[in-house]
Amino acid sequence: MAFDLEMIKAVYAGMGSRIEAARTAVGRPLTLTEKILYAHLYGGTVSQAFERGVSYVDFAPDRVAMQDATAQMALLQFMQAGKPKAAVPSTVHCDHLIQAKEGATEDLAIANSENKEVYDFLASVSNKYGIGFWKPGAGIIHQVVLENYAFPGGMMIGTDSHTPNAGGLGMIAIGVGGADAVDVMAGMAWELKFPKVIGVKLTGKMNGWTSAKDVILKVAGILTVKGGTGAIVEYFGEGANSLSATGKGTICNMGAEIGATTSVFSYDEKMGDYLRSTERADIADLAAGVAQHLRADDEVYANPEAFYDRLIEINLDELEPYVNGPFTPDAAWPISQFAAAVKEHGWPEKLEVGLIGSCTNSSYEDITRAASIAGQAVSKGLTVNAEFTVTPGSELVRYTVERDGLLDTFAQMGGVVLANACGPCIGQWARHTDDPKRRNSIITSFNRNFAKRNDGNPNTHAFVASPEIVTAFAIAGDLTFNPLTDTLTTKDGQQVKFDEPQGIELPPAGFAVEDAGFQAPAADGSGVQVLVASTSDRLQLLDPFKPWEGTDLKGLRLLIKAQGKCTTDHISMAGPWLKYRGHLDNISNNMLIGATNAFNGETNAVKDALTQGTPYSPVPAVARNYKAQGIGSIVVGDENYGEGSSREHAAMEPRHLGVRAILVKSFARIHETNLKKQGMLGLTFANKADYDLIEEDDTFDILGLTEFAPGKPLQIRLHHADGDTDLITVNHTYNQGQIEWFKAGSALNLIRLKESGEA
Ligand code: SF4
Repeated sequence: MAFDLEMIKAVYAGMGSRIEAARTAVGRPLTLTEKILYAHLYGGTVSQAFERGVSYVDFAPDRVAMQDATAQMALLQFMQAGKPKAAVPSTVHCDHLIQAKEGATEDLAIANSENKEVYDFLASVSNKYGIGFWKPGAGIIHQVVLENYAFPGGMMIGTDSHTPNAGGLGMIAIGVGGADAVDVMAGMAWELKFPKVIGVKLTGKMNGWTSAKDVILKVAGILTVKGGTGAIVEYFGEGANSLSATGKGTICNMGAEIGATTSVFSYDEKMGDYLRSTERADIADLAAGVAQHLRADDEVYANPEAFYDRLIEINLDELEPYVNGPFTPDAAWPISQFAAAVKEHGWPEKLEVGLIGSCTNSSYEDITRAASIAGQAVSKGLTVNAEFTVTPGSELVRYTVERDGLLDTFAQMGGVVLANACGPCIGQWARHTDDPKRRNSIITSFNRNFAKRNDGNPNTHAFVASPEIVTAFAIAGDLTFNPLTDTLTTKDGQQVKFDEPQGIELPPAGFAVEDAGFQAPAADGSGVQVLVASTSDRLQLLDPFKPWEGTDLKGLRLLIKAQGKCTTDHISMAGPWLKYRGHLDNISNNMLIGATNAFNGETNAVKDALTQGTPYSPVPAVARNYKAQGIGSIVVGDENYGEGSSREHAAMEPRHLGVRAILVKSFARIHETNLKKQGMLGLTFANKADYDLIEEDDTFDILGLTEFAPGKPLQIRLHHADGDTDLITVNHTYNQGQIEWFKAGSALNLIRLKESGEA
């Protein structure tokens, strides 16, 4: 970790002057969010104020984390940059590909065998490029980051939506797509729209059955799944200081459920305690030394309405435990009203499985609170009436809670410990059930509960609550049970009630682990070979895309004129295709198969101008045919083309299959940028009505490329089948740097040329 310590020292050394410059530029006191963001501007100089929710800003995050599913394409792309190592400290975490079935040992062995080629690739590419590698079984990305890498006032990105978990240690941590990770690892700027800031003031103190989880479950009810969009949620107040760092992590983790860019707490003693307990006393000391930079200015806390875009107040003294669901995490029910809601909505009352743990809730505190309930069940002679599983967030936590006898307590009430991995949280769950389609209820301490997420069954009603509430429900086996007020019947017929859960924030004997599962990279990776079998159908090394040929593009064929909504899911579907996300050629067989062809109203059925006979063929097949004949193609689309996720495959697949330009009425911004990075032309109709001029048999000439310049429109000549032509004007948003990407064939090509001194 010495490397990290030097990096953190450098961040803190620059913070004071940058924050001062930002305060001057903005002309008012600053929120914590603003302090951290202005301290991480790309290039380092604060020369202007940015408008929240409006300005696009280049940032320089301190760190990158990647989970195994998204890391594959990110690292295949990073290899294209020609860099000897990642520009910032980076890690890979093998957590998403392990299926939960029998228990930790058996499930891990199967995953190691089934995913061997993926793990071997990730381990070797990490070793070569100076990237830390966390083996399968080491833990879930966000828990491992919190235990090892998160630091107050830092900024990181991670290729997973729950990256904000690190906000529990005061870090601005944002979930992104693989392409963003590549940018940062390659030393490029990372762009983000300067977020709005929502303040959540916590007063009072947590007590009894209520836990940190209930704060975010309540906030989700207030803000709904969209309420945090484009905003960073900043928690403060005396109540915040009473929450453990891991409790804060739980709250930040689930900020993803309200659509927030991320969530963050200011530095306090609880963070210092956690840092010391996880052997980072040096970081705690450094943070304490710059504590004034790791909280908002005093004026902000004194008059929060004036500085936050929205303010919410929650009194922890009055906060009840919550149960949220089913099917959405913002359906928030205080426990006192939950039983009535279950009856009123007719949700299955019998609870079949309780699942605790995951990246959201598997801290020492969480496990001790849940175990205190489990221990009562055992000592009071209660029978457990539902299945019960425990998913530790990391080997560090698992080893420590096993040493302290807590796993044994769960085992005594019939609990099964699963691998330190995502498992049931991401649908990697071979659930034991007599009827996989029956309406049924489960309850988890995870974060998401959308239909089919856990077990693939649309009839599973999944609810979310704190680990101690989940444990109590699992013992009762009944969703109408209220553990705060109701009694249960023991084996010998007595009525007993649970005492309040008791938790221990940090292990009194310290954390311990035999093998945390970390593999440090080679000091000099130049001789390391990246392992990818040429026969693999899951992984494929990338060939650089060809540079621009230096001329206008003539004779392009229409691949598809898409009508209506065309999201990144329509362009590159998920589901079974995720298996191929490390193999560009194989995953390209899903290209645009969800888009609606404007000429026949069908999906995945377009005209192949080169074949006679069958009039309509699958989109990827037609694209491959054009490519094989050396003919470029063009995709035409409607409004907000490419909305949805930041999935880079949606830009890479068309590029791979010979599409030269995407011409639309308007773009979703992230997708437009992704197209530019892949060396593709992303163009918009200057006159949107020209969309109607496009006919099925048209060919296209893109004109003006030899004078391609920022702000200067291009032209396209349409050649219709009847011999007529139309000349239309198309706009673009390329700046000079992005035009260089186009000319080089991709942004990574340009970096590689610069790295080798050829550009
Ligand atoms: Fe995502 Fe669940 Fe894994 Fe956490 S445990 S990283 S929420 S899949």
